[in-house]
Amino acid sequence: MPSFVITEKCDGCKALDRTACQYICPNDLMILNRDISKAYNRAPEMCWECYSCVKICPTQAIEVRGYADFVPLGAVVQPLRGTDAILWTVKFRNNTVKRFRFPIRTTPEGSIAPDAGFSTGTADLKSPLLRTEPSSLGTEDLTTF
Ligand code: SF4
Ligand code: SF4
Repeated sequence: MPSFVITEKCDGCKALDRTACQYICPNDLMILNRDISKAYNRAPEMCWECYSCVKICPTQAIEVRGYADFVPLGAVVQPLRGTDAILWTVKFRNNTVKRFRFPIRTTPEGSIAPDAGFSTGTADLKSPLLRTEPSSLGTEDLTTF
C-alpha cells in the first residue's frame, strides 16, 4: 500500500516553496495542492513504501500501510523522527505494541556527496564493473573479460 496523507494533520509545510515530502520522495510523487495547502501522492502505484516521506513529515501527517504479508490487516508500522533517532512503533493485529529506537545520521541535509567520492561518467554505463569497482573490492586491478 502506498503512502497517504492525513489531511487534518497536513499543514502544507506552511506554504514553503517545496514541502518536506516533495523534497525527500525519491520518486517525485508528492504534490502540494496550494489551494488547500494539503499534500497528496499523485501516483500511488509508483510508491515503493520507502517511508522517507513518513519520517520527514514534521506533523506526522503521512502513513504507509504495508502489504498484508508484511503487516497483516489491522497492524501498523509508524516512525516518529527525533533529533538523533527514529522511534518505530509496531502494532500487531492482536494489539501487541513494540517500540524500537534507532539512531539516525546527524549530518546536515545536503552535506553528503551523492557519489560518495567515486567518479561518474557515461563511460561507466558501458563498463562491466559496478560503479564503485574495483576499489570497493579492495583492489585497483580487477581483470574483466
Ligand atoms: S511534509 Fe507533511 S505537512 Fe508537509 S506538505 Fe507533506 S504531508 Fe503536509
Ligand atoms: S513512501 Fe517513499 S516512494 Fe512513497 S511517496 Fe513516500 S517518499 Fe515517495
